[in-house]
Amino acid sequence: MAKTRILLRNGFVIDTDPEPVARPGTDVLIEDDRIAAVGTGLSADGAVVIDATDRIVLPGFVDTHRHLWETAVRAGAADLDLAGYIGVMLGQYGPRFRPQDVYAATLAGALEAMDAGVTTLIDYSHALHTPQHADAAVDALQAARLRAVFGYGLPFVGGGDPDDVRRVRIGRLADDEALVTMVLAPAGPSFTAIDQVMTDWHLADELGLRLTIHVSAGPVAIRPISTLREHGLLREKTLYVHGNSLDDEELKLIAESGGTASVTPASEAQMRVGAPVAGRLRRAGVPTGLGVDAVASLPGDMFSVMRAAVLASQIADQTPLTSADVLKMATLDGAAALGLADRIGSLRPGKQADIILLRLDDLNMLTAERDPIAAVTTAANPGNVDTVLVAGRVVKAAGRLVHGDLAEAIHALRATASVVNGR
Ligand SMILES: [Zn+2]
Repeated sequence: MAKTRILLRNGFVIDTDPEPVARPGTDVLIEDDRIAAVGTGLSADGAVVIDATDRIVLPGFVDTHRHLWETAVRAGAADLDLAGYIGVMLGQYGPRFRPQDVYAATLAGALEAMDAGVTTLIDYSHALHTPQHADAAVDALQAARLRAVFGYGLPFVGGGDPDDVRRVRIGRLADDEALVTMVLAPAGPSFTAIDQVMTDWHLADELGLRLTIHVSAGPVAIRPISTLREHGLLREKTLYVHGNSLDDEELKLIAESGGTASVTPASEAQMRVGAPVAGRLRRAGVPTGLGVDAVASLPGDMFSVMRAAVLASQIADQTPLTSADVLKMATLDGAAALGLADRIGSLRPGKQADIILLRLDDLNMLTAERDPIAAVTTAANPGNVDTVLVAGRVVKAAGRLVHGDLAEAIHALRATASVVNGR
């Protein structure tokens, strides 16, 4: 069968591998779901041509930590620190979510992310009260048609239902090369007793699942990484989130074990969980991506997260992160953090065609051709996202999402918000 070909013609192309570099007047050829070539004067033979003049063309953003269900509680946790956030979100709102609410919020949140140029995200889904809730989250991620990692969240108390984790893994998300894949998202040693941690890690091993966990110094284990090591649970294929309060020795243990990290500088500042940690993690040699985290108190786009990372680094690091550093964290390093760097995160031919186009001829982007990389991290916002492709499929064109049921998704989110807000 003939391949579907798309040619992105004459863009300001930013690639990210090995480091971000901008190439004006460059084409990108896509065949089916993959990038076929990047260069100048590529043949348009048999291809649909998308004119990328006055467009920055770059790999789609990779969000390495997000709770999509909170999309139904927008502005619900403003001005709250971590304790206040946990009390309100996990204590009050979360228990009110029915399966259809998880579906509506997950779908709308995923569409919001795509609209803002996020082509891959991990959904740390921790309002899963029944198997129907878990199915609703997976259904919504698959309906959104972005690349997603479903993080099956286990409750901090009681450990959840391992049989349902098995059901979802074996029955629904067995293919680790599908558009929607799965990891296990248990409470971890910072928040739950070591016996439960061992049970959860063994479940991940049994099912061949990667892990993602929130980490901090306490309230249960003060040195959670050392605790994992002492119990033979420190290993690769584990994504550690936050870690602001961990000492450098703990970060070194993560690096040596082959683990990866996600920092969410905006939410970490909002929730006051400690000094910015991105610079320390990178210096320790840990592959580190960026995440939005909590859309109940923060915007859901990666532009604001990249800016938060740069600004926070001015305070925390003697040599602050640069625009190129944070753009790489938001793309290729994020892919590495999720274990997907061989498939996404750069424009290397053979990789999945997850690509976004930003308008350089919008008022806030005019004259930014001098440095497209800095333009993305200092000037751009979701309103500049013109075109989005996921696995070679156009999901946003000429500034509009092409999802079939956008009006229905918005209607369902509003219905859910009225329920979970108790109105
Ligand atoms: Zn989180």
